[in-house]
Order: sequence, then structure tokens, then C-alpha cells
Amino acid sequence: MRKKLVVGNWKMHGNRASNAALLAGLREAGPWSADVAVCVPFPYIAETALALTGQAIAFGAQDCSAHEQGAFTGEVSSAMLADLGCRYVIVGHSERRAFHAESDQLVADKAKAALAHGVTPIVCVGETLAEREAGQTETVVKRQLAAVIHTLTHCIGEIVLAYEPVWAIGTGLTASPEQAQSVHAVLRKQLQAATQKADAMRILYGGSVKPDNAAQLFAMPDIDGGLIGGAALKAGDFSVICRAAA
Ligand code: PEP
Repeated sequence: MRKKLVVGNWKMHGNRASNAALLAGLREAGPWSADVAVCVPFPYIAETALALTGQAIAFGAQDCSAHEQGAFTGEVSSAMLADLGCRYVIVGHSERRAFHAESDQLVADKAKAALAHGVTPIVCVGETLAEREAGQTETVVKRQLAAVIHTLTHCIGEIVLAYEPVWAIGTGLTASPEQAQSVHAVLRKQLQAATQKADAMRILYGGSVKPDNAAQLFAMPDIDGGLIGGAALKAGDFSVICRAAA
């Protein structure tokens, strides 16, 4: 039985005051029976760690460098994230693939760097609307995942995978539970072929998950929780979503 996981992706939102209020709201609203985490902007990781001391809420980052260390101005290594106590790091979010031209191989290398420092990568895959309409959904997500499988080899069982259809992120359009389930089943089959541990791996759904659609999505057999953007910025909404992941 896989324990559900709900992760908030704060993206580039917040400031010290609003973060403190959001984290205080989460401290009050929890605990939940699912595992819960927040992935916050780099400058706020240390304060988030302090605010969550003694809480059953994990925290992490939204990206990491594929490099170990060195002359890479502006980058943040997974060793630094581990040093700050990060449990998770999101890699390959569609916004990074689109706006920072991140390739499948770079995403895989970032996942490898994270695992090397004991930080669990949440690897995002997903198709654009044009790709879905062209009937390419399976081909695209399988290609994105194949690069990670190839790079991580026997460590692939240690990642969290997130299926995030690009057309559903921040748009208010959500994949139906059946649409999401069918892609999750494809991804789990691909993971199973690479590792015998796919039954124990968590595959999250992300894309306009809200308090009123979370329970139906999380009820699907291969959906093991969610990666939540907009709705993670309100403690009340995020808490309802976490509760729906019972
Ligand atoms: C995301 O950013 O990963 C995401 C799923 O965003 P939203 O929930 O706002 O669609």
C-alpha cells in the first residue's frame, strides 16, 4: 500500500511575512494522514526549516543544479539543499523545461545529483496541449521518463514521479480522473519494466488540483497524491487537498 504524498509548489510567490502566515496556517491545520511537503523558493528554505521544526511537514526546493559545485553563478547544488535539510527537490517542472530550455537529459542529471545527496527528486513529466491533440501524450511522457530511467539505472525506484499535463498547469483545466489515471498506468508500467519496485513508487498528479477535485483524482488506483501549485498558497485550500489524500 503506497502512502499518499501531497507537495505544495510555491513557485516564485511569497515573502517573509506571507510565508510565515502560510506556514503557521499549515501548522494549525495539520497533521494529515498523507505525507505532506512544501517546495519553497531558495531564499526561504532556511526560514521554512525553522518554521517547520518538529512538524510532520517536509520541505524542499523547486530546482537544483546538475553540477556538484564550482563556477556556476546563480545555481544551487543539491549538496546545499541537503545541508539545509531539504527532503525533496522538484526537477523538470514544465516551466523550467519551457522557459529555461531544460532537456530530458538535463532533468535526468539533476535527479541524479539530488539522489547523490539524499534529496528525493520529484521528477515532472507531461505533454503540452498540442502534443495531446496530436495523440502524442504517451510518446512524450515515456520519452521524458526514459531519460531518467537510463541515467539513474538501479536508483530509479528512489524518485517520486509527477505527471503534470502542461495544459492543466495554472489554467484551471484539470485532467479528468480517468485521463490522469490512464497516463499514470502507462508510467507505472514503464517504471515496472525498469525496476521491480514500481508498485512501491509514488506517482503524483499535478495540474489545477483544487479542494473540489482532489478527492476524485486521488481515488484513482495509480494516483498517489498531488503536486499542487496555486492552491498550495492558501493554507485552508492546501489543507483540504491534503485531507483528501487520506
Ligand atoms: C504546478 O505548478 O506544479 C501546478 C500543478 O500548478 P497548479 O496547481 O497551479 O496548476
